[in-house]
Amino acid sequence: MESQEFDLVLLGGGHAHCAVLADWIRHGLPAERAALVTPSPYLRYSGMVPGWIAGKYAEEEGRVDLKSLAARAGITFIEDRCIAIDPEARLVTAIGSGTASFTHCSIDTGGVGRSAAVLGDDPRLIDVRPIDGLADRLRGDGGSGPAAVIGGGAGGVELAFALRNQPEAKRDVTLITGKAGLLPTFARGPRELVRRALDAQNIATIEADVVGGDTLQISRDDPQTSPDDPLETAEIVVAALGSGAPDWPGESGLDVDGDGFIAVDKFQRSTSHSHIFAVGDVASRQDRHVPHSGVHSVHAGPVLAANLRRVSGGKEPVRSYAPRPASLYILSTANGRAIATYGPIATEAEWVSDLKSWIDKRWIASYAKLARPV
Ligand SMILES: Cc1cc2nc3c(=O)[nH]c(=O)nc-3n(C[C@H](O)[C@H](O)[C@H](O)COP(=O)(O)OP(=O)(O)OC[C@H]3O[C@@H](n4cnc5c(N)ncnc54)[C@H](O)[C@@H]3O)c2cc1C
Repeated sequence: MESQEFDLVLLGGGHAHCAVLADWIRHGLPAERAALVTPSPYLRYSGMVPGWIAGKYAEEEGRVDLKSLAARAGITFIEDRCIAIDPEARLVTAIGSGTASFTHCSIDTGGVGRSAAVLGDDPRLIDVRPIDGLADRLRGDGGSGPAAVIGGGAGGVELAFALRNQPEAKRDVTLITGKAGLLPTFARGPRELVRRALDAQNIATIEADVVGGDTLQISRDDPQTSPDDPLETAEIVVAALGSGAPDWPGESGLDVDGDGFIAVDKFQRSTSHSHIFAVGDVASRQDRHVPHSGVHSVHAGPVLAANLRRVSGGKEPVRSYAPRPASLYILSTANGRAIATYGPIATEAEWVSDLKSWIDKRWIASYAKLARPV
């Protein structure tokens, strides 16, 4: 993309930018020249990844064809990874293709893995991010021996169930949640139901931290720790530690929060550079807490699309994404059932799994339909 000039550049084909592309296909481009810079022609939809690992979905299911969407929207698709942005000069630098200038830019590049920084470089470690790398390693050289999952959030829980139910390996799985325990941000009822489902599938849970270094170990200071350390026997150790921030936004001079995520206002605009927007896991709303999760990235997409359309037309952004007081989370237990949680309410059933499949497939199908040539 040497010396290319754009009015609007989308960095990262994340969940929110899918909605922006959809808006451009349906309602026309808000600017003359626009581009999407992202390292893969596809976005892997995270909600269907545990199902893919558990053999429920084939590889080509559960992904959005970004390249075709870009073509249908009439914008330039640049298959590359952004490594820097100069917010003053309005320049983006990508690994292989040089620089591009922009009038407005929107960043939806997601979070990065934290396992190396937190847990060291044990060769058995597999980070959940990037998601494609996780799935490739699990479906490739993942073996069939015992597995440990580190991280007691929704991602860790779903991965523990998925690994337990891989078609090629009914492996022993241990979930090590950290001292914060199982699903610390969930209400007690849902937490208990998930605990029972883990017990029913013989997935052991250990509420302790893991210390990294040359060899992974469960923190021996913790009084709850049993003398047996499942990490000693684990063939693979999947780290689901939550999103980390990439270094390049902060290094590029954008305002970031204490953890390095791009600080944005209620319109998803950078608090330091109002011609730059950020959304999803890479962003951090300064006016209110919006957790990093796919649900929020998806729902913020149409709001971002409306704001990008306005600023491209020389107007101020007006829309702001406000999460509902509680969100519906559906955790697949990978045995044909799933657990739905909404605030303190939770239920586990086969129909919940069917509902999750329907919601996920409908989301993917909406983009597949848009990506098809007319
Ligand atoms: C196993 C697993 C299961 C999950 N299940 C759920 C779930 O059921 N529900 C839920 O709400 N959340 C779930 N999550 C969390 C969810 O994945 C993230 O919150 C969500 O993907 C964030 O979306 P995003 O748009 O911010 O970024 P992403 O979906 O991560 O998309 C980022 C995009 O940017 C691209 N990119 C990355 N770096 C660069 C760069 N430097 N330059 C250009 N492009 C770049 C990537 O290739 C990708 O296309 C799960 C996470 C995991 C790991």
